[in-house]
Amino acid sequence: MRVETDYLVIGSGVAGLFFALKAAAYGEVLLLTKDQIQESNTTYAQGGIAGVFSSQDSFEAHIQDTLTAGDGLCREAVVRSVIQEAPAAIRELMAYGVEFDRDETGQLLLAREGGHSHPRVLHSRDATGAAISKALIAAVQAHPRIQVWEGVFALDLITQHHLGIYVNRGYPGITCYGVYALEIATGKIWTILSRVTVLAAGGAGQVYPVTTNPPTATGDGVAMALRAKARIANMEFYQFHPTALYEPDKRPAFLLTEALRGAGATLVDPLRHKPFMHKYDPRGDLAPRDIVARAIDTESKIAGLPYVFLDARPVKNLPENFPTIYQYCLKKGVDPTQDLLPVAPAAHYMVGGIDTDPQGRTSIQRLYAIGEVSYTGLHGANRLASNSLLEALVFARRAAQDTRDKLASYTGQKEVPDWDPPRQPPSRRTRTHQP
Ligand SMILES: Cc1cc2nc3c(=O)[nH]c(=O)nc-3n(C[C@H](O)[C@H](O)[C@H](O)COP(=O)(O)OP(=O)(O)OC[C@H]3O[C@@H](n4cnc5c(N)ncnc54)[C@H](O)[C@@H]3O)c2cc1C
Repeated sequence: MRVETDYLVIGSGVAGLFFALKAAAYGEVLLLTKDQIQESNTTYAQGGIAGVFSSQDSFEAHIQDTLTAGDGLCREAVVRSVIQEAPAAIRELMAYGVEFDRDETGQLLLAREGGHSHPRVLHSRDATGAAISKALIAAVQAHPRIQVWEGVFALDLITQHHLGIYVNRGYPGITCYGVYALEIATGKIWTILSRVTVLAAGGAGQVYPVTTNPPTATGDGVAMALRAKARIANMEFYQFHPTALYEPDKRPAFLLTEALRGAGATLVDPLRHKPFMHKYDPRGDLAPRDIVARAIDTESKIAGLPYVFLDARPVKNLPENFPTIYQYCLKKGVDPTQDLLPVAPAAHYMVGGIDTDPQGRTSIQRLYAIGEVSYTGLHGANRLASNSLLEALVFARRAAQDTRDKLASYTGQKEVPDWDPPRQPPSRRTRTHQP
């Protein structure tokens, strides 16, 4: 079972969908996704996407906020270029039909989130990711040059290794020829050969016991790239979102977006109900996420309880502006307009990933990595809120553009054998116990 394509895209979040739409201008695209097309972290994004759209704001302010949140480990040139490209990339997203909230005069409504010195987050109520997914999926499904295979699980990147050559990290010119992928419904394994392969497989929140990420976020992209000997960077940085609703054993944990704090909600300690964030940072409740998550951890340990409270009662028009959160909390028996909400940090965003250059190219030829699966240097040690949807858009655009003139020179690799898992002795973990 084999198939050939110009572009093979793995993942149907914002990065994969946006790349597919851009690349389809240059060739045929096959997009694989292991679940249904809408299942991705993207669909669950609440707060929004950051970009400079106000005359009160400036690129320099957004750049400095990003560098500060990244704690000295961002690649500054990447930060500068991504933030300057943001308005154009976001306008392209709007051209696919994504609608962001506007006031009665038609001006974009901009929210403020932690670490941002100005309001600059475009949003669709508190379900921005769902609005983005819906519009991009419709555009992808209507495109004559894009095929989508749902329920197909990419297993392994194909490189010279599969041609019988010993490939280690020092091997010069490792090249990706496509992937082996499992069709879940039939158990068949496809050999998919591609001129360009794009990993847009998202993060790995499910590695942690408490996470806001849906079940699809299992780190497959980084694992495949690591096995293929790609360069991986900064996997020690995993961002914990400070405020997931505290519900023991709930997977995924339900997120209470930072935009609530931007709209006036305050963290209070669980015993005396007093605000505490100013003890930890002069930016108070809108300090960057790492600082707020650590402060919550400290306060809950002082109180001997596994949570603190978020007081969202001061938020104006909460039921209208945050309908998803409002309805969810009511279902759980707490009314955010009347009650304090128990919250605790949850694993949220994979800051490290497959190391790429500013065009999304990995250390493996013909292999790109975009979106949460990648490490581009935009986030450094810690992502500024709402910069990740932005990063996915900008790098999807750049990667597609980068392939345009090279595509024709990337010839298929007919000698690739069909899937035949190496017959190695079982690993120590699966070996039968010998007394
Ligand atoms: C609850 C929540 C709220 C968030 N809110 C915001 C926000 O307000 N603003 C912001 O900027 N960011 C937010 N984020 C982060 C943001 O949503 C993600 O970083 C971003 O959507 C990642 O997009 P992506 O396309 O890289 O990956 P994803 O959207 O996660 O898509 C990955 C895709 O790859 C597929 N896949 C994975 N492995 C395989 C495989 N082996 N074979 C085939 N397919 C595979 C998955 O099924 C999925 O379709 C939030 C995240 C969560 C979880």
